[in-house]
Amino acid sequence: MHKPLLVMKFGGTSVGSAQAIARAADLIAEQTGHCAVAAVVSAMSQVTNTLLAILEAGGRGERATVETNLAALRKKHLDACRELIAAERREVAAARIDDILGNFDRVARGILLLGERPERSEDAAVPTGEKLSALLVSEVLRQQGIDAQPVDGAGVIVTDAVFGGAAPLLAETDAKAAGSLMPILERGGVPIVTGFNGATKDGVPTTLGRGGSDFSASIVASALDADELWIWTDVPGILTADPRIVADARVLAEVTYNEACELAYNGAKVLHPRTLAPLVEKKIPVRIKNSFDPRQPGTRISEEPPGSVGVRAVTALPKVTLLSIEAVSISLSGAQLMARALEAAARAKVEVLLLTRSSFRQNFCMLVRSEEVGAVLDGLHEELALELAHGYVHPIEVDHSVGLLAAVGEGMRGTPGFAGRLFAAMSENAINVIAIAQGSSELTIAIVVNETDLTKAVQAVHAQCRLGRAAPADKRPAAA
Ligand code: ASP
Ligand code: MG
Repeated sequence: MHKPLLVMKFGGTSVGSAQAIARAADLIAEQTGHCAVAAVVSAMSQVTNTLLAILEAGGRGERATVETNLAALRKKHLDACRELIAAERREVAAARIDDILGNFDRVARGILLLGERPERSEDAAVPTGEKLSALLVSEVLRQQGIDAQPVDGAGVIVTDAVFGGAAPLLAETDAKAAGSLMPILERGGVPIVTGFNGATKDGVPTTLGRGGSDFSASIVASALDADELWIWTDVPGILTADPRIVADARVLAEVTYNEACELAYNGAKVLHPRTLAPLVEKKIPVRIKNSFDPRQPGTRISEEPPGSVGVRAVTALPKVTLLSIEAVSISLSGAQLMARALEAAARAKVEVLLLTRSSFRQNFCMLVRSEEVGAVLDGLHEELALELAHGYVHPIEVDHSVGLLAAVGEGMRGTPGFAGRLFAAMSENAINVIAIAQGSSELTIAIVVNETDLTKAVQAVHAQCRLGRAAPADKRPAAA
């Protein structure tokens, strides 16, 4: 293909109403003038939640809840169809909506009968929201004379068989995506792919986990060797801080892949944390754009080093818990204890967000998401059962009242003084630092503080690092 290829992904709010769908279609149509376009769409906002709620109610045998919610979903999509699609095509489109919902209905009824929800059935049924929005977006485009075609992600993305949180098999996906999408692109058409879902090698439907349609889009962009990926969402881009916490937070014109990953991991909600991995190797740049204000440049994510020095953004994760483990006697190997604790966390599938260890006392602490504390504690109590029972290890201390602040920026690398600045910000504001960690990549400094100090700490670091004022690198006009 000679034209550049752009993959555009629309999130739930960006297809959340008839008006939003019309705008999404316009944004796609506009780009088809300059390049080949493949789109990836989420379900209309809230639809996935409703679909899951229906299946849960089905599992509990609550027929009435199933019926009411299904009727509401049907109405929502038929209303949008009526608003968007002209009379000649409306009946055909409405029949397609009923088809798609009919398939879901069959699964929901099966679950009602069984009184349980096999995860396979759930993964086959939940992407229904994406199928409906892909249909609507395609129909609107077809009405404008664009050869758009809804495509089921199950025929594009090949995954492992971890239902509810599958991982893509990239080599297999390259072949599958080329086979399903290239013929459409080559005839000048626009595939509208459902985000969020895939299928195993044997064709069993899977989903990539909640919020996974960003990930779908990056997998598709990588498989097709796209020139760029644009992610349309409801925020103006990646910001220097959460604007609800910091009044002068500002959109960053450019960040690196590494910075965006660290920010997503540490609580910035713009991107699903797994999104960027498939793009890095092929150096496909991503643009985050606001579909409610599409003329703004948004944030560009690429490999290019930032022109700026120091901290670029600061995030806050409030719902975290610190676990402290300490051997009673220094004769017990602290390193071994730590290794076993990490293994126990890994077995419980709990991510350790931060780990610190003091040098002499055999004490270390690990930070986890509060919703995962139960799972990790069970694992630790099992792993260390003997040591705890015999008093070789102190009872595990659990501190829920902490929060995590992360200051992120590639420009900190090799430049002294940034940790000092952060500490100055903390001490000037009388904020007690409970734990601190900096990886050897010098990309992120993570600080654990009391949860009640977290907002103040983020504001203090944002101000101390002067993030509210545009750095010279961010004044550059954004590339088109
Ligand atoms: N619709 C799915 C969800 O709500 C996937 C997504 O929107 O990214 O989780
Ligand atoms: Mg989403």
